[in-house]
Amino acid sequence: MDQEKVARLTRELLMEIGENPDREGLLKTPERVADSWAFLTSGYRSDLKTVINGAVFESEANNMILCRNIEVHSLCEHHMLPFFGSCTIGYIARHKVIGLSKLARIVDHFSRRLQIQERLTSQIARAVKDSVDAEGVGVIIEARHMCMTMRGVGKQHSSMTTSSVLGSFHADPSTRIEFLTLAGR
Ligand code: ZN
Repeated sequence: MDQEKVARLTRELLMEIGENPDREGLLKTPERVADSWAFLTSGYRSDLKTVINGAVFESEANNMILCRNIEVHSLCEHHMLPFFGSCTIGYIARHKVIGLSKLARIVDHFSRRLQIQERLTSQIARAVKDSVDAEGVGVIIEARHMCMTMRGVGKQHSSMTTSSVLGSFHADPSTRIEFLTLAGR
């Protein structure tokens, strides 16, 4: 990402919305916005293999492993406004498990870019399944969308819940029920 170019475009945007980019409070805003966008879209430039980086371990475990309330911050692709909430990931290992902190890194990898919540949910599920060759995976995201609460319909407290289930979580109703129960659903 060319940060100088993003700063120039931000300066133009400021003028276009009726601001004066040369007033004191806005002098450094274009550079700050460029920095911020570099971070918020860093998922485009991160490599999933590097993210997981060897944190997959051999294990005899074949029970369900669950990580709840992983924070999610992303940007909706329709309005480029934030949506944020929490993510729960569960999987059943076959021979391998993944470090817990890496689950959070996988969430960041896919959320730091323009997204829709449905795709984010299924991309995380697929990545977890592939990284450990899991028997099954379930992912639930509950999030609030600023494009809903700040503008348009102005629904202050609405949230959206999406889920994606793969493998045995999809095929076996009792596995899915165990996941939803552990997830507090
Ligand atoms: Zn939106």
